[in-house]
Amino acid sequence: MLNTQYLKLVRRILGVALVLLISACATVNPVTGEKEYFTLNEKAEIKLGEQHYYPTMQSMGGEYLNNNEAKNYVNSIGQKLAQVSHRPNLNYEFKIVNSSMVNAFALPGGKICVTRGLLEQIDNEAQLAAVLGHEIGHVTARHGAKRFVRGTILSSLLQFGGAVLDLKNVKGKDWIKLGAVLGTEAFLSKYSRDQETQSDTLGIDYMQKVNYDPHGAVQLFELFSRLSKKEPGFIEKLFASHPQSNERMQNANNIIKNKNTAKTKKIVNTLEFSQATATIKREASIYRNYDRAEKLSRDGRVEEAIEFYNKAIQEKSSESLFHASLGLAYLEREQSYQGEKYLKEAIRLYPDYYMPHYILGIHYLGERQYDGAIEYLEKTDKFIPEQPTTQFLLAQAYIASGGWFNQAKGMGLLRTVCLQHKYTKIGNMACKQVEILEPKKEAKK
Ligand SMILES: [Zn+2]
Repeated sequence: MLNTQYLKLVRRILGVALVLLISACATVNPVTGEKEYFTLNEKAEIKLGEQHYYPTMQSMGGEYLNNNEAKNYVNSIGQKLAQVSHRPNLNYEFKIVNSSMVNAFALPGGKICVTRGLLEQIDNEAQLAAVLGHEIGHVTARHGAKRFVRGTILSSLLQFGGAVLDLKNVKGKDWIKLGAVLGTEAFLSKYSRDQETQSDTLGIDYMQKVNYDPHGAVQLFELFSRLSKKEPGFIEKLFASHPQSNERMQNANNIIKNKNTAKTKKIVNTLEFSQATATIKREASIYRNYDRAEKLSRDGRVEEAIEFYNKAIQEKSSESLFHASLGLAYLEREQSYQGEKYLKEAIRLYPDYYMPHYILGIHYLGERQYDGAIEYLEKTDKFIPEQPTTQFLLAQAYIASGGWFNQAKGMGLLRTVCLQHKYTKIGNMACKQVEILEPKKEAKK
């Protein structure tokens, strides 16, 4: 008797709890109007996007600086499209990241970026509107809020192969290898094919609302397929977050055909587009030299890489990326003085970019200059927060620097990495190190 009553009560409580849980998680999709369960509410969605905006930009070359004309222009086109979207009240931001890749991304809540490489490749404003409209579509349909995934970002930064895992014997530039191998996590959405199609449809819809020629979207797909033919694997590699297919081009064509829009003259291009992208297009060859140097460096041809980095610097001495990569190349050749000089110049030119800080931090760790290591790795941790690699390396610097306070701080970091990343290589290393450094505690159990 008691038993069944008790069970009934449990069931009732569970029922109430379940209803509470579901109503707490249900939100209405702004695009479809349908109720959705187990996605983030709007406030959490916005917060998630804001938290990851700068770190994600950092992982893609940082912000493309010193070109306010291009920056303001991209933002103005983005804002215009956002105002006619399904969610005009979000706090949208549109920025350019300093990468030659042809790419764009959106974070939940309306934080959107396009790459310098994309602006270099497109020919008119309607194509830009197509890119931005598509990204706004991901935001308004809340694709990112549904599935936000972790990926590794730092591992491609430092171009060394092979793992160095025996900490006792790690020294000098080996630390840089270690930092590269362990990698760091980035958050970006991976979208399904259906989500891409929906964003294409939404993007074209927004374009048409502000009178852009929707053929810009078709031209964009043509550009992508042209680029991927020129260099096989290009799209797969560089536009990985936006799977590419002829289907999408077909789909865009169909939407345009179905919506009869022939009444007024549509905007294809503007003088502003030509003016705002002029510098990027003019400087394309400079960045080609830089990209070439990066590839040489990855292939282990550091000597030749340095030549091309220098060429790029001669033509654009204000570019922080060039100095940072040249600095790293010198460190690879164990020319510490030159390496540090260029990395510090990179930081002077762009104080808020993690990459030169990260490299210098690891370099000083290898040189057993722990104060320097702590200073630069702390900054790295500020720019791309809570990354296990940075925290692990920082722990090494604190522990090695000696002193009770630093030791405790280092151990704290190690424990955090161990607990939060137990099932990854780096978490494992952190746990092992905790065991070695705290044998007594373990024995007490
Ligand atoms: Zn997409």
